[in-house]
Amino acid sequence: MFKKIIFCFSLIICSVCLLACSNQQNQGASQKINVVTTNSIIADITKNIAADKINLHSIVPIGQDPHEYEPLPNDVKKTSDADLIFYNGINLEDGGQAWFTKLVKNANKKKDKDYFAVSKGVDIIYLEGQEEKGKEDPHAWLNLENGMIYAKNIAEQLQKKDPKNKDFYEKNLKSYLEKLAELDEKAKTTFAAIPENQKLIVTSEGCFKYFSKAYDIPSAYIWEINTEEEGSSEQIKSLVEKLQKDPRPHSLFVESSVDKRPMKTISKETGIPIFAEIFTDSVAEEGQEGDSYYAMMKWNLEKIAQGLAE
Ligand SMILES: [Zn+2]
Repeated sequence: MFKKIIFCFSLIICSVCLLACSNQQNQGASQKINVVTTNSIIADITKNIAADKINLHSIVPIGQDPHEYEPLPNDVKKTSDADLIFYNGINLEDGGQAWFTKLVKNANKKKDKDYFAVSKGVDIIYLEGQEEKGKEDPHAWLNLENGMIYAKNIAEQLQKKDPKNKDFYEKNLKSYLEKLAELDEKAKTTFAAIPENQKLIVTSEGCFKYFSKAYDIPSAYIWEINTEEEGSSEQIKSLVEKLQKDPRPHSLFVESSVDKRPMKTISKETGIPIFAEIFTDSVAEEGQEGDSYYAMMKWNLEKIAQGLAE
């Protein structure tokens, strides 16, 4: 009888423990902050700092254009539920049709309280001949030094919204910055060794202004920004004429997140081969080369260096 009571008693204790334990686990999961990012590059930088400490939803799918996008019902829901939203700004998601501006307005979210531009603090470059708000070139991340600014901005807001994991974010930020700085150094050394008369990168969208400035590689393009007409016959004609007069380009590059046909036409009409696909507005699919911000920058750096050196 006594044994039986003890047995029942231990059974109850065990159940209580189990319940408490699972409850704690549930609480643990729900204590994670909900973070939304607009594209795969910002999502990857965020993951490098936050790892599994947050619930992360990224809006524009890998390989798609982040300039123009139609959020899905799930994006709207995640944005409404988000504790923290990261976007690029400087005329990317808030340029053209401004899909992001509409999204956060509908979700009743406030700037610099709920949503933050990760580009805050970068030295802005404007579209050619235009120096006003709304005419910025958004592709700041293609300079690794700016990628480091993005990472710091992301870490700062994560630490503010989720102070219990402050040290974790700080530690990850530090090692991530070291990794990016090392790649940046390497890029500078590599490009410095390429002769001036071979330096010209040609892409579909004119997204290499920040890259060009950082690594001293001039760039040419078919259209300047994805929110404009992409690959009209005048744009193609104008670039073909430019390239026919220019002795520098031996190779062309095409971005993973644009229509490849205009660049194929350029290649056909100039006889200059497309050397490689590069990543500008999106990382690669998971498991493929270039599937993180670091990996895509490394890929671009290697391919562009090889292409220019040919
Ligand atoms: Zn772009």
